[in-house]
This record gives sequence, structure tokens and C-alpha cells, in this order.
Amino acid sequence: MSKKPPAAKKEEPPAAASAPAVEAAPAKKAEKGKREKKHKQEKGVHAMYKVEGEKLSRARPICERCGPGYFMADHHDRYTCGHCGFTRYKQK
Ligand SMILES: [Zn+2]
Repeated sequence: MSKKPPAAKKEEPPAAASAPAVEAAPAKKAEKGKREKKHKQEKGVHAMYKVEGEKLSRARPICERCGPGYFMADHHDRYTCGHCGFTRYKQK
């Protein structure tokens, strides 16, 4: 006589989604010792704009003479336009 063991059916939840969704990003390689001089960060017009929510703000003043599209260079005490040479001193 052979008795069947009680079929204890364990209902397991569909264990499928237990894997991590995002794999750990590879550590950034530190570029050191390549050059003594620090490479100047490349800047474009995108550096002049900052998007805050839905607002767009400009990091540099616009030349009053040349109009929109001409940003002024940011010096420690003044702004200058490289296009027409217009200089505006910063107000404290
Ligand atoms: Zn100008």
C-alpha cells in the first residue's frame, strides 16, 4: 500500500519582479594626471540660460545696444559686450 503524501500545495506569489530595476551605474572615472592644466569648461549659449520650472532666466545681462542674443561678459565689476564694446558697471 502506498499512501500519497498530503499534497501540501503552497501557493507562491508570482516571484518575478524581485530583480533590481536599476543597475548600479559604473563609478565615474576620475580623470587625473592627464594634464596639469585644467581644461577650460566649454561654454555655449546653453550656459547663459537657466530653466527654472517654466521660467527661463538668463545668467548674463543682454547688451542694451545689440539687443537680445548678445550676452555681456561677466567681469568682476562690470559687464561688457564683446560685440560693440558696451560696458555696464555692476551696481552694489
Ligand atoms: Zn553690444
